Amino acid sequence: MAFLDYVLEPPRYGWQDESGNLVKPTNGQIVSEFFYRLNIFRTRKNWLSFMSWLQVVCLAPFFIVFIFHYFTWGLLVAAFFYSMVFMGTHGTIWHHRYCTHGAYTFRNKFWLFVTRNLSLKIIPEEIYVVSHHVHHCKSDQPGDPYNATAGFLYCFLADVTHQPINRNLSEDDYNRAVNLMKHTGVQTNSYQGYLKWGALARPGLTLLHWVLNWGFWYGVFFLIGGHPLAFALFGGACFWAVGVRTFNFEGHGKGKDVQREGVDFNRKDKSINQAWPGIVAGEWHNNHHLFPHSARSGFMWYQLDLAWCYIRLLSYIGAVTTFNDAKPLFQKQYLADKKQPLATAETVDRVA
Ligand SMILES: [Zn+2]
Ligand SMILES: [Zn+2]
Repeated sequence: MAFLDYVLEPPRYGWQDESGNLVKPTNGQIVSEFFYRLNIFRTRKNWLSFMSWLQVVCLAPFFIVFIFHYFTWGLLVAAFFYSMVFMGTHGTIWHHRYCTHGAYTFRNKFWLFVTRNLSLKIIPEEIYVVSHHVHHCKSDQPGDPYNATAGFLYCFLADVTHQPINRNLSEDDYNRAVNLMKHTGVQTNSYQGYLKWGALARPGLTLLHWVLNWGFWYGVFFLIGGHPLAFALFGGACFWAVGVRTFNFEGHGKGKDVQREGVDFNRKDKSINQAWPGIVAGEWHNNHHLFPHSARSGFMWYQLDLAWCYIRLLSYIGAVTTFNDAKPLFQKQYLADKKQPLATAETVDRVA
């Protein structure tokens, strides 16, 4: 059995039935699994998912106070840009292109630190990275942690129900999981620590990082625009934290075959290029499945890619030393010769 077949903790309803068909749980089963795996009183090993949703809950009061107390149209625009554009693009730069796909490298740990903490910390790296390798390996197949064909809720709650790592890894397999994270700056547990806490991340350090990151950014926002601006941007982050969880469903066409000729060149899965996540965050998802290791996903002239702009800027100033740009290859394979068959590129992440 390949490592990526079992690196994630399977839900109680399983990934596939005995015939190998995708199990599509009912919404009731998904919600039940969600709370089962969020419950830290049942097992402390649920701590990371719990903390992730606790952060969303902690942001909610900022959102409410902003709407009912500090609301101005100017602050709404600021909150919109900070959450949708800034945080969205940061997710692409950091979690997606760097942590998961290693599409570029930093000159040193300083630039890694700056990039990691460039926005409010909400999504734990480990939950995103390990499961995203599985997503590329099994896109829209049983075992895909956010398989859009299994419905909205299956994807929306996946960071708790499907994405955390398996709690029963051998020491060798645990070390392979650590390997997936070693370039990210996340301090990982020893195997003994993993057996106790069920995760790669160390709880104390994760909590400390959260507090320091939020404290720093609240201070910066406060110095710029007082409590009104700080509440607006933290409130916007709450909105984003919920909204971003809908992307995995939308980005694969809600499980339907809606790929368009001349727009979606990769036909190996259901991923699609969408204007909104593309423009605000550089997530041209069909392009990305075509060339997962590319630091750029905007290939057509109209496909704005702000994440690529950041990586390129860091490269100009010497903070990024290497990057992989698949645009020339895309143009050669898909635009220069229109008779070229679709989806010939290798789209599966290779994990040692
Ligand atoms: Zn995808
Ligand atoms: Zn990816």
